[in-house]
Amino acid sequence: MRTVLNSGWLPPGKTCAVCFSIDDIHPGKATDAYEAGGDCEKGRLGLLQELKRRQPELHTTLFVTADWREISPHPTRTLLARIPALRDRFYLSPILPKGTMSLARHPEVVAYLRSLPRTELALHGLHHVHRGLNLPVEFQQQPVDTCIDILTEAQEIFRQAGIPAADGLQPPAWNTPPALVEACSRAGLSYLAGARDIVTPVSADAVTAMSGPRGMSLIFPELFPGSNLIHFTSNWQATSRPERALDILGAGGLLCIKAHIVKQWRSYVALDGIDELYCNYLDLLLDRIRATFGNAVWFTSMQEVARAVRASQAQDRSPV
Ligand SMILES: [Zn+2]
Repeated sequence: MRTVLNSGWLPPGKTCAVCFSIDDIHPGKATDAYEAGGDCEKGRLGLLQELKRRQPELHTTLFVTADWREISPHPTRTLLARIPALRDRFYLSPILPKGTMSLARHPEVVAYLRSLPRTELALHGLHHVHRGLNLPVEFQQQPVDTCIDILTEAQEIFRQAGIPAADGLQPPAWNTPPALVEACSRAGLSYLAGARDIVTPVSADAVTAMSGPRGMSLIFPELFPGSNLIHFTSNWQATSRPERALDILGAGGLLCIKAHIVKQWRSYVALDGIDELYCNYLDLLLDRIRATFGNAVWFTSMQEVARAVRASQAQDRSPV
């Protein structure tokens, strides 16, 4: 049985909500493989800062990798990559030594991230890398206990870096195997932003059918089956039309805008990478949302929605 959270969590007077999240944040600088937040206001996060100045209601969830090790998103050891079975035992590109990008070793970046207004930090994996062909897909076939160990180590790095324990996770490359869902639940996380679906037409009963978990609500938070873990779907990105956002909000839904901090790596270009164009588009979109829905729209974050869901669940259980 499904538990779609289509009501109860919105504050009084609000009919719909907007979240904005950015993946792959880590201390990488322009001189490293990726500029991913390490150049602070001089890098891509400076564009976010400017957007937030223009949009004073906008909240952001930064999904941060605790100790990023990926150098290439694709195999560069191409000969090894052609040998079935053997290739699954090796990293198919060079990776960074453990600890190089640990948040605990980059206090200036952490201080900057924590100084950003209306910004929460959540988990985007421990190392963002895996052996075998799918390099960035950190969670694949690991058993529940291994997933818990990974989450615990990531939270420990957050703690060492002075960051409060994260409430939620965006798994790298969307992959959300059942063992990870159970691990998140047992590790005490509140939410998991698993799916991305920017193509399924919007309706109140539409379900996800693109990246990550399938069959989850496209526009509402939903509990994973058999769990109290809340799922959020990223349902809009830079390549989406404004009408899709307005339709989600018009249906009383949660618009989850997604971006990635890295725009380009060699020939690979992220369609939803943060750049001037995307930030300007978001600026216009948010103005249009406000003009259409006025005060009925709640600009919030995944953590706030998760807490509102928990509060509404507690109210439902309290005696009357
Ligand atoms: Zn990622």
